[in-house]
Parts: sequence; C-alpha cells; structure tokens
Amino acid sequence: MGFEEQHESGVKLYRLVAGETRPAKLFVGGVHGTEGLYTAPILEHLAREEVYQGEVIIIPSLVETSEYIGVLSEEYYQSDAGMKLLQLILRYKPRFYFELHAYEEPAYARLTDPERVKKIGVPHFVDLYKGVLIGSIAPILRRKFTANDFCMTIEVPKWKCAHPEIIEKVLEVLRIALTKTDREEVMHELRTRYPEQIKMAVYLFHQYYREHLKPF
Ligand SMILES: [Zn+2]
Repeated sequence: MGFEEQHESGVKLYRLVAGETRPAKLFVGGVHGTEGLYTAPILEHLAREEVYQGEVIIIPSLVETSEYIGVLSEEYYQSDAGMKLLQLILRYKPRFYFELHAYEEPAYARLTDPERVKKIGVPHFVDLYKGVLIGSIAPILRRKFTANDFCMTIEVPKWKCAHPEIIEKVLEVLRIALTKTDREEVMHELRTRYPEQIKMAVYLFHQYYREHLKPF
C-alpha cells in the first residue's frame, strides 16, 4: 500500500488503491476562494494514512485561490473550479464523497441557524464538535450522485484549524469513510461516536429530501 501523487490539469491529487478498486471515494478541499489554505493540511495528512479500502482520491485543494462563488449556486458549477469538480465526480463516480470547506467565526451563526432552510432553502449544518460542522452537500451537486451514495460536507473553523484537536476530529470522521466499504457501516460508526449530532443531521436530511435519498 502507498500513495501516489499525480497532477491533473494543475490539480494535485493523491490516489490510493487497496485491493479492490471499489468503492471509489473522493475527498476534496479548497473548492473556492482561499479555503484550500485550511483544508489542504488536513487532506495531506489523510493521504498518508496507512489503512484504507477501495480507490481513494484525495485533492487537498481544488483551487489555490479563486473567486469565491458559493457552491449552492448554479454559477459555481459553470466556473473553472466547479467544472473541475464535476469532471472529477464524473470520472471517478465516487460512492463516498467528502467536501471540506473552511469558514470564518462570524459565519458560525448563519451556518448553524435553524431558520437556514426557510431563509436560503437548505438545511443548517450540525456542530459535530467545537465548530466542526457537518451536513450534506449542495443540492445541485447531490443530484449528480445516486440515492445510496454518501455525500458529506465538513466545515472547518478557520480560526481553530491549526488546533491538533480539531484536525484530529476531522480526520476521525474522514478515516471512518476511508476504512469502510459499506455506507451503513459508516453510518453506524458515526452514530456510535456522535449519536445526537448524527440524529439531528439525518433528521434535517430527511426533512429536505424526504425518503428519496439516503443520508447523506
Ligand atoms: Zn466554502
């Protein structure tokens, strides 16, 4: 086992393959603005993990610096960054997809606002641990996946992103997906470790998607 580093259209990418090449898993950070500065160190760490299953693709930072276009908007998927992201998803057809973002402290209230679904049409994030937020991905992007795929956004607090404790919590969640092959095993592990938070995130997911898709 080991990782190989590749560059595709200027994007640094790690590919790890253990035994079977299924399922494919895609971990991507730095999808807009300068968030890659905060997500790359975590994903670089993930690329050096020694235990994994399937075909793992890790992109520490999709863009170095780009215009900040929110991923909830159609416009994002027409931007260079958004098109690269769509191409990666089409190419690897991941069954597990993790998108890492980074947010500023004042955005916490907005991201976790219970009224978020009324205000902007998408559910709020759930605080998994001291500002590490989880939720599903942008609905526009979720449609590119199947009902059974597992798609999660993790929002990392920028002002704490160098704290070992925070890095470790994010890695803990990512490692669960890295080492499992079955979505139910991942859900079980998450529920065991974070019962209340996962219960809430699943509730919000079902409220939004009804029973059409499986969380997340
Ligand atoms: Zn973001």
